[in-house]
Amino acid sequence: MSETETQSPVMSRAIPAPAVSVETKPFWDAAAEGRFLIKRCEACGKAHWYPRTYCPFCDSGETVWEESPGEGVIYTYSVMRRAPTGPYAIGYVTLDEGPAVLTNFVGVAPDGLAIGMRVKVRFQPTEGGPPAPVFAPL
Ligand SMILES: [Zn+2]
Repeated sequence: MSETETQSPVMSRAIPAPAVSVETKPFWDAAAEGRFLIKRCEACGKAHWYPRTYCPFCDSGETVWEESPGEGVIYTYSVMRRAPTGPYAIGYVTLDEGPAVLTNFVGVAPDGLAIGMRVKVRFQPTEGGPPAPVFAPL
């Protein structure tokens, strides 16, 4: 018990501009307005992430955009402690609608994360592109 623990800083790091395609432009346009969109298939009823024109479950092209509160729980995460920009964490969030989102966690010290923790989407500015979805504790 001789080790001195220092308080980890709250995480945040620069995110490169996302690649915007015709398929994902509605998502990024909504993100610029602070709205989080997912896609749902009208044929099988399942929501999916990331947004695709064709349903990954049944291959139907009848997918529609749906606004999500962007809330869910941490399924798993990993903390990068030796990054030049300071520690950061990435992981999967299971949205309340079902899909898993690979994301960055912000607004919390690395030691403050826990599997099963409820989190909510936030939008973080990127380097010259639309804001990107990240998640912070609710
Ligand atoms: Zn489907």
